[in-house]
This record gives sequence, C-alpha cells and structure tokens, in this order.
Amino acid sequence: MGDPLAGGPHGLPLAAPGLLPVILDGVADGIAVLDRDGRCIYLNESAGAMLGQAPAGMLGSRLWNQLPEDLRLGLRQACEAAAETGVADRLVGRSAKLGCWFEFRVLPHDGDVVIVFRDVTDEQLAHDELVEHLDRNFEAERIVGFGVWRWELRSGRVRWSDELHRIYGLAPGDFGGTVDAFISYLHPEDRERVWATVSRSVETLEPFIFEERIMRPDGEERVLLSKGRVIADSDGSAEALVGVCYDVTERARIERALGASERRMRAIIDNSPSVISVKDLSGRYLMSNLESGRVLGMETDEIVGKYCTDLFPPEIAEAQRANDARAASEGDPVYDDVVFVRNGEPRNYVTSTFVLPDEEGFALETCTIATDVTERRDYETTRRERAECAEQITSALAEDRMLVFGQPIIDLRSGAHAASELLVRLQSAGERPETLAPGRFLPAAESFGLIQPIDIWMVRQATVLSDPVVLEVNISAVTMSDPAARREIVELLAGAPAAAARIVFEITETAAATHLDATFAFAKDIERLGCRLALDDFGTGFGSFTYLRKLPLSFIKIDVSFVRGMVESLDDRRVVQSIIGIAKQFDLATVAEGVENEATLELVRELGADFAQGFHIGRPAPIAAVRH
Ligand code: C2E
Ligand code: MG
Ligand code: MG
Repeated sequence: MGDPLAGGPHGLPLAAPGLLPVILDGVADGIAVLDRDGRCIYLNESAGAMLGQAPAGMLGSRLWNQLPEDLRLGLRQACEAAAETGVADRLVGRSAKLGCWFEFRVLPHDGDVVIVFRDVTDEQLAHDELVEHLDRNFEAERIVGFGVWRWELRSGRVRWSDELHRIYGLAPGDFGGTVDAFISYLHPEDRERVWATVSRSVETLEPFIFEERIMRPDGEERVLLSKGRVIADSDGSAEALVGVCYDVTERARIERALGASERRMRAIIDNSPSVISVKDLSGRYLMSNLESGRVLGMETDEIVGKYCTDLFPPEIAEAQRANDARAASEGDPVYDDVVFVRNGEPRNYVTSTFVLPDEEGFALETCTIATDVTERRDYETTRRERAECAEQITSALAEDRMLVFGQPIIDLRSGAHAASELLVRLQSAGERPETLAPGRFLPAAESFGLIQPIDIWMVRQATVLSDPVVLEVNISAVTMSDPAARREIVELLAGAPAAAARIVFEITETAAATHLDATFAFAKDIERLGCRLALDDFGTGFGSFTYLRKLPLSFIKIDVSFVRGMVESLDDRRVVQSIIGIAKQFDLATVAEGVENEATLELVRELGADFAQGFHIGRPAPIAAVRH
C-alpha cells in the first residue's frame, strides 16, 4: 500500500501527481479510500465536511467509526463484502441522529476500497413528502389526478389511496390489499415486465418507472404510468415501495392516433408518384420517399444523411442547393425544371422547394417535391403543335395559299396525256413565301385529324377545273373515316356529275388495309356517283390482295420506290413485273409512278404497264386554284 494518490487507483497520469488532490477536493461528493483493514488512507475535503471533521484527523481511523451509529454496520458490511468479492455495492441509509439520508457507493480496487458518498436527504424528503402528502390528502390527489400506493415488503400488505381505487374502477376499500390482487388487474402481457422492473428496484434501491395496462372490473382497459422508489431500512435493504400512478389512457390514445397519423402520412408519401424529400438547412437529407429511391436506384435509408452532391451530378446538386437557400431565405416556394434519369430514360420533372417552419415560424428544413411531367409536357407539345397545324391550314385555305399542282399521267400505248394527279401544296405566310410539299404539312394534319378540309378543298378543285383529262384526287383514311367529310364530298360530286365521271380517287394501300370498312363505304359512295378508284403506292402496304378482290378498283398505282430504280435493280423489276401480272389477273389497269428516265419508261412499257407518271414525263406543276 503506498500513497493512494500517487497515480494508482485513479489511473491519472503520474506526470500530474499534484493535480489529483486538487480535483478530488473540488468534488462535491465525499470520497474516502480505505485499505484492507478498513483504515482511511485518503479523504477529500467534502468527506471531511460531511462528517464534521478535518480529513487529516481521520486518516488511519476506520471510516465507519466516524459515522453515526445507525449507518456504521451497513457500511462496514458493504466495505468488507466489496473488499472480499471485488464487486461494487450501493446503499442508502438514514441517520436518525443527523436527520440525514446518505448514499454510499462502495468501489473495490486492488484490495483497497473507494467510497463515494453524498447527502441525499433533500431528494428523499421531496419524494417522501410528496408521496406521504398525497397519501393523506385525497382531495389534492383527486385534483392532480393520480393515485398513490405503498407496498410493505415484509408483511406483503399493499395500501391504495382512494384515487387509485377510482382509477382502477373500484370503490374505496375494494382492493384486496395484496400484490397478487394488484397483479390480477394487470394486463397479462404486461405482468412479467412490471414485475421485473419492480424486482430490480428492490434489489438496487433505484427508483422505478413503468407504463402498464390494467383491466378494470367493468372490462375497460386503461393505461397507467407508475413512478416510485424503494424505502430502505437502516440495514440498507428494501423495506417498502411507494409509488404514484397516473392514468395516461388518453395520452396513450393520442400517441397511438399520432402514430397512426404518421403511418398514414408515410403511406401517402411513399405511394406518391412524385419524388419527395426533406433536408436540414445544411442540405443533409432527413427523409425521402420510395419514389426518390427508385429515381436514385437506392434504398431510402441510404439517402438519409447524404447531401445533394453525394447523389446528383454537380449541376443538379448546385441548382437544388440554390433553390433550398432561396426558399429558406425568401419563404416562398421556388419552382424549377430538372431532368432525372429514371430506368435509363431521361424524364422531365418540375420541382417545388419550400420551407418547413418550426413552432415559431422560422425555417427549419426544406422539402422538395419533384413531379414527373414528361407525359404532360409531351401532351402540351402535341396540343400546341395541333393548334399551330390547325391555324396553318385554316389560314392557308382562307388566304388562298393552298395550291393545286398537277402531274401528267400518260397512256403507254398511245403516249397521250390521259390524266393528271392533283397534288396539294401550301404557300407559307410571311414576307418570303415558300411552297411547301405535302410532306411538310400533311403528316401532321393527318395525325391531328385535320386533313379533311384539305381533301374536301381538293375535291372541290377537281369538280370545277376545266382540265379535259381525268383527274386523280388523293383521299386520306382520316377523311374517309369522317362521315361529315364524306357527306360533304358526296354533295360536291353529286352537284357536278360530269366532273365526277372524270375523277379517279386514289387511296393508299395502307389506308385501305387499316381502314377497310371506311374505304368500302367511301368506295360505294363514289362508285354511285360515277367516280373510279385507284389503289395508290401499291407494294408498300401489307401485301394482302384482299382489297383487290373486295374493292371496286379500276387502277393500281405501282409505288415510286419500285419504279425509280428498276433499270438497275433486278429485284425492283421483278416486283413491278409481278404487280403488273397480278393486276392483269384482276383485270385492273396499272400506273407506274416514279418514271424518271427514258430507260424506265421503255421498261415499264415492255413489262405491260398501262400508264406512266414521273418526273421524266412531267413534274408536278401549278394549276390555277379556284377561289372559294
Ligand atoms: P402520291 O399520291 O403517291 O403522289 C405521288 C408523289 O410522288 C408526289 O409527291 C410526286 O411529286 C412524287 N413523284 C411523282 N413522280 C416522281 C418521280 O419521278 N420521282 C420521284 N422521286 N417522285 C415522284 P408529292 O406531291 O410530294 O406528294 C406526296 C404525297 O402526298 C402523295 O403521294 C399523296 O399521298 C399525298 N398528297 C398530295 N396531295 C394530296 C391531297 O390533296 N390529299 C391527300 N390526302 N394526300 C395528298
Ligand atoms: Mg397519289
Ligand atoms: Mg403514289
């Protein structure tokens, strides 16, 4: 045994040997170190003050002899047991002489024993007073709304205040007064936990607190909060337990409801198709929903704690940080556009970033909701384009900027100009008008269902043109499928029977295949009025001959794509030859479109085509359109 403060028991650095006593003297708790014989080898200032003597005067004496009599035995036994077993102990004892409560912590160390002790009188009295006071003062207890109980461990008697009876739904005095009676009211699932908590306090003398469900005799379940402490006898062993009991059923119900509301909120957020996240003001993610995880390809738990810069490319992270900062400083939501890649596909999002305020209204966190607007944008783009297309057609018709071009078709036997195909052109508005080919405006007009006025306009042109030859007019599937447009065309033709007899309507093979019923209906209408029908662009459609059998056709027009290169391509020549052969089988005349040179003209004639059309014969050229 040496100097107890020479760096040993406390493990403080020996380089500061003078420091330790200064520190220990500054501590409010009494500290004493006893050797194997129980003699004091060190006491700090507070120990001296509590025991009413100078520390130096007590060195070498046995500590417990310095204590009031009613504390001696307990401490002595605890010190001897600790020195022997090496196990720390804790006891609380009261000195009747001093009228004080002390708590001793007995810490064995290498044969010596360190005792840390303090005066706990105030704490004990405060609790005892409260319990005792409430135990007596039922009126106050009722106002405050909690019951009091006391369990004498030796006799096993349990006393309940009237208010506690009331909480349990019992008449005062109806409680059986035993631990078993108390346990019988406890919810079976809570019994083990409550018993373990109470038993631990009896052992350690520590205060206890637990929440328990009780079953009242009327069958109602209530939730109670019990708090209390152990009263120790002079030996430091538990003598009784006193406790106060609050009925917290309503609070528990609110908490459950809050839990349910939180779960409900979570479900809504997680099922939202939008990307939702909350960040603190340093930009760290506090929460993110399932859709965020899907977009980032991560679990939501992995996102929490990260920063934008950890998750997004620098430009997106930078923009989001700026939006967070603006929302936090200005208080108004900040809207932005961003492109996130989801499932490998870039998608357009609109983000709204706003502040989540604390109770006083100060910015606490920022929330960002990003909504995928890709389809909406596409829809809006389509709507805008449709409106533009409609405007273009309407204004062109109204301002006589819709033009008729004609392209000659010759009879291959006589070489005579037998017919003209009418092809539409649109002259753009503005200072430098441009003549637009059908490819520039017809596909949009057709897909938006706006082609009917053009076809009707062209039919009107055909009925009034003074050209003596046959006129071929193209009709879209959209127009054929529109009963109102069909009616209008029928009326126009019926009003000009001589012109109608010179008109050949051209329907593409694709239109016939995809709108078979409308094509039949249209074919029937125009046949009655003396018009004829040609199947246009033959060979590019579905290659089915159904229409050849079923439609009242007069001509088949072999598509430009087979005719143009047929001198060089044996395959194309074979296709043209086959089509001519099939047409003959069905007793139909053939028109070879796309004749661009003399060799092709000779070839189609040789193969037996009836008519030819193409740049070599004549390019489409303006025919004076008739004003409305
Ligand atoms: P289509 O009915 O097959 O008309 C023939 C197209 O081939 C015309 O194109 C014509 O200029 C082009 N063509 C004629 N000969 C040759 C040639 O030797 N070589 C080449 N490479 N091409 C030649 P265009 O005028 O641009 O018309 C394109 C399509 O627009 C037409 O094809 C027709 O389907 C459609 N179309 C034109 N006017 C109307 C119309 O008033 N109503 C409807 N519904 N469609 C029309
Ligand atoms: Mg045509
Ligand atoms: Mg064609």
